[in-house]
Amino acid sequence: MKFGNKFDRYIAVLFFVTIVTVILTSYFTLKDIINSHNKQVQSAITPLFSLITSEILRPLNVANFMAHNQFIIDYASKDEIDKEFIADYLSRISKSYNMLAFIALEKHNLMLDSNSKERLLNSKEAEWYHRLKDLPGEQFSDIGNSEDPHLYFDNKIRNKDGEFIGFTGVAIDLNYFASKFKEYSERFGFELFFVDSNNIITLSSNSIMRSESHHRKDLITRLSDLPWHQSLIKNSKVDKNLSSEFVYNTEDGLLISQMPIQELNWRMFIVSPPAVEQNEYWKIFIGRFLLFFFIAVIFYLVLLNSISYLKNRLITHSETDYLTQLPNRSHIHSRFDTIAKNNKNLCVVLADIDNFKNINDTYGHLVGDDVLKIVSEQLSYTLRKIDVVGRWGGEEFVMLLPETSAEQALIIVERIRNNIAAISFPISTTSGTFTTTISFGICELSLKDKNIEDYIEGADKALYEAKNNGRNQSVIFN
Ligand code: GH3
Ligand code: MG
Ligand code: MG
Repeated sequence: MKFGNKFDRYIAVLFFVTIVTVILTSYFTLKDIINSHNKQVQSAITPLFSLITSEILRPLNVANFMAHNQFIIDYASKDEIDKEFIADYLSRISKSYNMLAFIALEKHNLMLDSNSKERLLNSKEAEWYHRLKDLPGEQFSDIGNSEDPHLYFDNKIRNKDGEFIGFTGVAIDLNYFASKFKEYSERFGFELFFVDSNNIITLSSNSIMRSESHHRKDLITRLSDLPWHQSLIKNSKVDKNLSSEFVYNTEDGLLISQMPIQELNWRMFIVSPPAVEQNEYWKIFIGRFLLFFFIAVIFYLVLLNSISYLKNRLITHSETDYLTQLPNRSHIHSRFDTIAKNNKNLCVVLADIDNFKNINDTYGHLVGDDVLKIVSEQLSYTLRKIDVVGRWGGEEFVMLLPETSAEQALIIVERIRNNIAAISFPISTTSGTFTTTISFGICELSLKDKNIEDYIEGADKALYEAKNNGRNQSVIFN
């Protein structure tokens, strides 16, 4: 039984170690996942900068370069102009930079572009010209052309005296822009919003972008229309300064970064959901862990049950005599100890089959075995629950009858003896039968200070006497 406790403790330790291992491996796996997520966030920054440089700052610089190009300034100042000549220049710019290039000439009331399109500046399409001309500043970004929306980078051209003589610049297809930013947002999970100085969304990676906004006022999307921006406004800690950089976490876990693009007087907002996703990881972790824990508990309960079943079977096996299925000698010892603890008086009976050697010699060992089985059944038959019958060895059996007097035991064993004597034992090989007898030695003692050997000694003496007196009888030791 001591072994049993120790074994149970091993199982508990095993269970504990499994759970701890699972917690640790899951925890480190989760950390790795979060780290790799953070790495991904980090790795998203570089492409973002190259995206802004190539898609926004590059056209801006090209427009700026054109406006300060002496060749353009001279051309815009001329009284007579060669349209083919400038169209050729614009188309070369357009090809090199993959953008639409244009020039608007104050003196000639004319706008020319790299597609060789011509427009008068007092036409409806050139509304932007008069709007921007009167604004302070040299460089503008403007969304125009409602059928085929483009983002225009317009630069004022001035002659050497600083007088305004027209506009030049480039334009980029907004659909191209949108697809670039969308690609980025799909790859890294961030949304990008570009906002002009009037807090109007000029570009975004999100479908809310209205490229016609400058033509239809009702379609304008303002920064204040975005739900995350409202939570940003409410937070007093956030620096409202338009030209400063900041990072802010909203209540619903969005991470918002503001980055000014000074060249355009724009701001860029990067909206990413890392905090929410990390919570998701933990939720997954806890969910998975609980599931695993549940399975592990069930697994261990089944394991413990199987082990205890096997243990019991093993114990029973080791305590049982194979042939007769009665308790064996070592088990009789432990049964005696239990009886001795709980009782005051005990009667022990030894039973020995008479002339058993003859049976073996006459009919063979297998027939002898059958006799042993039948006799053991007879011995167990009429006994009480607290009584114990076991095989003591060979053709000898032992009975432990607690709180039974020798006289009472005699009555019991006499009945058994008579029953056995009346049995026709089968001869399995010939289908004939034979009879045999059994002798009993009875020993009753008070349990105080007595051990099993004392009982066996007494019963053995009585049995010896029974054999000596001619067998097939029961004798009480005294
Ligand atoms: P007694 O009346 O004096 O008891 O004579 P006996 O022949 O019964 O006694 P003895 O001790 O001379 O012989 C016991 C025999 O029991 C010897 C042994 O071969 C046989 N025996 C012991 N165990 C088994 C067993 O499991 N199966 C069989 N078939 N025989 C067994
Ligand atoms: Mg014997
Ligand atoms: Mg015998």
